[in-house]
Formats: sequence, C-alpha cells, structure tokens
Amino acid sequence: MSEDKIIDGKAFAAGLRERIGREAARLKAEHGLVPGLAVVLVGENPASQVYVRNKARQTAEAGMRSFEHKLPPETSQDELLNLVEKLNNDPAVNGILVQLPLPDQIAEQAVIDAIDPAKDVDGFHVINVGRLSTGTTGASAPLVPCTPLGCIMLLKNRLGSLSGLNAVVIGRSNIVGKPMAQLLIKESCTVTVAHSRTRDLPAVARAADILVAAVGRPGMIKADWIKPGATVIDVGINRVEGEGGKSRIVGDVDTQAAMAVAGAITPVPGGVGPMTIACLLANTLTAACRQAGIEPPVL
Ligand code: NAD
Repeated sequence: MSEDKIIDGKAFAAGLRERIGREAARLKAEHGLVPGLAVVLVGENPASQVYVRNKARQTAEAGMRSFEHKLPPETSQDELLNLVEKLNNDPAVNGILVQLPLPDQIAEQAVIDAIDPAKDVDGFHVINVGRLSTGTTGASAPLVPCTPLGCIMLLKNRLGSLSGLNAVVIGRSNIVGKPMAQLLIKESCTVTVAHSRTRDLPAVARAADILVAAVGRPGMIKADWIKPGATVIDVGINRVEGEGGKSRIVGDVDTQAAMAVAGAITPVPGGVGPMTIACLLANTLTAACRQAGIEPPVL
C-alpha cells in the first residue's frame, strides 16, 4: 500500500483548526469579537451525543464560545422553535446547529426553516442552498454544508485546479450528495450525480476522475469501479462487526482493493470525517465575521 496515495484528512483538519484558532485570536485582539456556536441536541441518540461533545470541545479549543443545549427526548416542536428563536436573537451566538436526526414529533424542515440563514452553520436553510446553487459570492455568499465543504478542500489541496475534470457523486442527499455536486460545478468539473436508481453504476463510476461516495453501504464501491489514477473521496461512515465481535467503522469504498487502482483516496476513519467538525468551526468564524461586517479570512 502506498502511503502517498492516502489523503490524510485527520492531519489536514488539524492544520485547518489551527488556522481557525489563530484567526479567532486575531478577531478577539483586533475587534473584541469571540465567535459563538450553539449546538442543540434533542434526546439521547448515542452517536449524536458523541458528535455534540466533540463539536463543543473543538469549538472551545479553537478559542470560540460553545453553548450546549440538551433537551429531553419528549421536547415538543414549539419548545425547540422557541429555543431557536432565542438563539437567533442572541448576539453572542453566531452559529446555530440543531443536531439531526430529531425525534419523530418534530419536523426537521420546520426547524431548519426557523434558523436565521446568517447563523445556519450547517448550510441547510433554503436561502443558503439557493445561494450555493446560484453561485452567490461576496457578502451574501452561502454558508456551505460542512461535509462537502471538507471534501472540496481535500480535493483542491490534493489536485490544485479541478477545472474540466469528470466528477461522479454517488448519493443525492441534501446533506452531502447535492451540495457536493454544486461545489464541484463551481470548481468547473463536469458533474454526474448517481443514486439508487442509476443504471450500470460501475460504468458511470469508471468515467470519474473524481469519485465521491456518499451512500452509506459498507465497501459497495469495488476496485474495478474506479478509473486508474482517479481521486476517490469516501464519505461513508458505516459501523460493521469486526474481529472478536467488536464493531469498527468502514467507508463506502473497498479501500484496500481500491488503493491499487486509485491515484489517491481518503481512508475511513481519518479521511473526510475529521473535516466535518473543522469546517463547522470555519463556518462559525465566517458567520461571525459577516455578522460583524468584517471580511472573513481565507482559511
Ligand atoms: P442518505 O441515506 O441521506 O443518502 C444516501 C444516498 O445514497 C441516497 O441519495 C441514495 O440514492 C444513494 N444510494 C443508496 N443506495 C444506493 C445504491 N445501492 N447505489 C447507489 N446509490 C445509492 O445518506 P447521507 O446522509 O448522504 O450519508 C451518506 C453516507 O455518508 C453515510 O454513510 C453517512 O454516515 C455518511 N456521512 C458522513 C459524514 C462525515 O462527516 N464524514 C457526514 C454525513 C454523512
């Protein structure tokens, strides 16, 4: 296995968090501004609890304020909407993230719609989705969903310009697949979005110079689906049973086999995963700057 084929997202994310920390310190020194991120967790989903804990810790480590709101599983939609409104109006809060999934009695869309788009650091509000798809730049540029933003950073860091490359995104979710496709279009790639109804998916995938897998099926993408030399971004996070009954995390790509064919590939864990929280911090910094009328730093 060739080490230089591995795209080390863990190391890149650590560097990004360091740059964010430096910029946050500069904002505090020069403008007296400390970006604040509010994370709301409803219920006791164990994976969500881990995510929220990590987000809070990394926010504080970057020198930003973290506000955690843990609500009981029986919280009503109105109670959650009231909290969102309070956070929208709180000047110490620059970014709001409501951890998904939410319990059944709460409509996710209603909550996403209620978040002030300027504080929507997940980038899920229709205003941000629309601005991403129209390519809005400058002061009204969108806040971009964290996972695809992390993927595009890794790709540009590895390949430089992406212009003219064939990109295939497998998966069409609002959280990963669709915003990923938009970001690749913005980078002047020729983009195909494949999904569960795509015919002859292996042939579609084999046309890709950049292959992004965001499906949620362990090891689905085989070595012979990959064009020799292609760059493979594995977004999948799948828990499977490992040796001795212990569970482990694998991606959507059969990584060991794919490594022989691909030019570069993100491992799971240690590839895209660590980029997501780093990009959440980046979005919080960006949101804080825009709210204060300060040009956000290039990270
Ligand atoms: P999702 O379930 O919302 O979407 C999955 C997509 O895969 C769908 O669009 C569907 O059409 C497509 N799909 C399903 N079966 C398919 C098949 N057999 N062939 C082709 N396409 C198929 O999932 P999501 O939220 O987009 O997440 C996808 C994966 O990425 C999951 O494993 C998730 O855990 C992971 N994820 C990772 C991060 C991260 O931080 N690294 C963040 C979000 C999601």
